[in-house]
Amino acid sequence: MSGAKAGRGDDAPTSEAAVPDMMTAALLRQYGRLDVGQLPTPEPGPGEVLCRVLACGICGTDLKIVRGDFAGVWPPSLPFVIGHEWSGVVAGLGPGTERSGLAVGDRVVAENHAGCSACAMCRSGRYNLCERVREPGFKLYGHTAPGALAEYAVRPAVALHRIPDGVGAAAAALVNQGALTVHAARRVGLTAGASVAVYGPGLLGLLMLQVARASGATTVVVVGRGDRLRTAADLGASDVVDYEHESPVDAVRAASGGRGVDVVFDCSGNPAVLAQAVGATRRGGSVAVLGLTGGARADVPVDAFALDELTLYGVRSSPNAYPAMLELLASGAVRTEPLTADRFVLDDVHAAFEALSARTSIRPIVLPTK
Ligand SMILES: [Zn+2]
Ligand SMILES: [Zn+2]
Repeated sequence: MSGAKAGRGDDAPTSEAAVPDMMTAALLRQYGRLDVGQLPTPEPGPGEVLCRVLACGICGTDLKIVRGDFAGVWPPSLPFVIGHEWSGVVAGLGPGTERSGLAVGDRVVAENHAGCSACAMCRSGRYNLCERVREPGFKLYGHTAPGALAEYAVRPAVALHRIPDGVGAAAAALVNQGALTVHAARRVGLTAGASVAVYGPGLLGLLMLQVARASGATTVVVVGRGDRLRTAADLGASDVVDYEHESPVDAVRAASGGRGVDVVFDCSGNPAVLAQAVGATRRGGSVAVLGLTGGARADVPVDAFALDELTLYGVRSSPNAYPAMLELLASGAVRTEPLTADRFVLDDVHAAFEALSARTSIRPIVLPTK
């Protein structure tokens, strides 16, 4: 077996053991709960790679999927394996992957969107917006196709990126969310010296804060509540605002010299934030929405968009952003230690979900294999 190199992260494999016929997975058999059970280990088809999962984070979207908020779409049917924020190690290569540059033993992260490569959006590089999303064959892994809350997962070789030396498996499991924030920074055209507010100091917001800093923002105000604001300050927020104790709009405006910030990144998943974001943005500024609400609607002051010439950006997934996020981790520009401390074995997946829904963990990381 190849792939063992010195100087890798904390959990480097030295070789890959034989792949078992059956694997353990967290199975969504009925909405409301996950069961840990056995499934046949998937086999890589043409162009696909089998990965042994090293670390898989659980996010708010996973909670909503398990609850059934997107039933019939994410997932299309039960039973289903969720999990889309993960890192792994190549355990097998399907036919037609010879030129992928991947080898058994390589540590990798996976993009979740595999576009059709043929529609106008895919051809323009915006494969996160593939127009054939409703057609059979489209796959959004962990949502419409099997995820990685399991010992093994199969992905197209083109969706995989090698993890740089020195970036651990748990940190790499944050690349999915981190790359979303890279995409957000690119969407709004964040520039040096920008002022920013980030609503929602969950994992997404705490990565957005750091990626905004790395993109040149000099004022980054984080709005949320409780202990997570301390983590935000520790990770470089210039100000933190606890909305339980002060008006978030007034406080963000005050922190930006009374003008309002250039950009608000809404990472909260809370539909009430959009109106606050409009109030906290300077004239001519931008609001970017990254968090999903589970189908909720928002009440927004419509005239402000016209009178203040605000720009509203939707931000979905992370097209072409994984390599940049991996570099930000490898260089130390984005810190992950406070974000990856809570780790669970697969048998304790319920505890991991409980920790996220009770907000005792910013990001529970499940380690499916030793
Ligand atoms: Zn997620
Ligand atoms: Zn497409």
